[in-house]
Amino acid sequence: MKRTVSLVLSLVLIVCALTAIVPDARAELRAPTITKEPGGENRSELGTALFVARADNASEIAWYLVAPRGASYDVNEVGDLFPGMSAAGQGTETLALYALASGINGWQVECRFKDLNGEETVSQRATITVDASLPAAPAITQAPQKAYLNFGEKTTLSVYAEAPAGYAVKYEWFSTETNNPANATLIPDATTAEFVPPEKDGTVYYCAGLKSVGSESPVSSYAFTPLIPVTYSTEPEVPEHVHTYSETWDKDDIYHWHVCTGCGEIADRATHSYDWTETVKATSRKQGERVGVCSVCGYQTTQIIPVQASQRSSGKGLLVALLVLVIAMLLAGAYYYVRYYRTGTKPDISTLSGLLNSRKTSRGRSSGRSSGQARGRHSGANRGDDDDDGGSL
Ligand SMILES: [Zn+2]
Ligand SMILES: [Zn+2]
Repeated sequence: MKRTVSLVLSLVLIVCALTAIVPDARAELRAPTITKEPGGENRSELGTALFVARADNASEIAWYLVAPRGASYDVNEVGDLFPGMSAAGQGTETLALYALASGINGWQVECRFKDLNGEETVSQRATITVDASLPAAPAITQAPQKAYLNFGEKTTLSVYAEAPAGYAVKYEWFSTETNNPANATLIPDATTAEFVPPEKDGTVYYCAGLKSVGSESPVSSYAFTPLIPVTYSTEPEVPEHVHTYSETWDKDDIYHWHVCTGCGEIADRATHSYDWTETVKATSRKQGERVGVCSVCGYQTTQIIPVQASQRSSGKGLLVALLVLVIAMLLAGAYYYVRYYRTGTKPDISTLSGLLNSRKTSRGRSSGRSSGQARGRHSGANRGDDDDDGGSL
């Protein structure tokens, strides 16, 4: 009995080791891994909230507003949900919500990342708090305008804003070389409603940051204006034109998009939306294959289906079966212990050999019977058909 148990246990250990060695095939289809979660923002009414989220292995980013009851909306719909509000940065790692309405208090934002296969990872939700204990931020009535300049030219950026009664507007200006408000840094000594950007080759982004300042109570949080580019260039500015996009889709192995026939600008760029058909079934030994056809542009792709995880699950199944066997044997051992040792009766040699012996005996008996039958039939045949009944004794 003990030997059998230890044999089964070592088998179990071997199976465990083998199961651990089999690589997890799904690892190759890894979804984006979030490296920065968006944080909650506590802001004044009419203030600006910035959210930053980042993920490795992400080819597409989308921000959503989540209502307290759970419905979610594309952030660009914020102006329909809360008139006067606007959003910037959809599709990038930084989301800016401007002119926060008191009604958005308690709403949340989440960021959804997709990898090249369309596998999605969703960030934690960050809560927007519109803090009623803070004074409202200044209401911006006119934001600065972008500019495209030759060297020697100047532009004046100006912002118009009103602070609530009893408060004054405090002006600050920020700049960044990337179109990302999270990277904007304070420009020293720029503290009026107007700012003249210095001449600098290329494009620099600017925004104003305004606060409501009172004599005693706390200062409001910032109301930022959206970032606007100021470009100094020796090239003439490309005149504004209305895009005319091609009817047919352009595509590569990841995206499809429309191209403006006039300027080459890209629009409606999105990852393919595949309908999959399995063409070769994956087994536990062989890779399979599936063909995806984009329902939007018709792009076709073929993807390997990794060796099926059934190898793993069958290993687990075997493990479970062995565990059940071990439990059954332990129960049987307990049963025989109670039956033979506790009651004082002992089996012939040991429980196991006793079992084997009893099985042998019964087998011996049954073979004896069958040989008897054979003999009987033999003798019956000798005696003739009428004696069949007696012969089969
Ligand atoms: Zn165009
Ligand atoms: Zn497509």
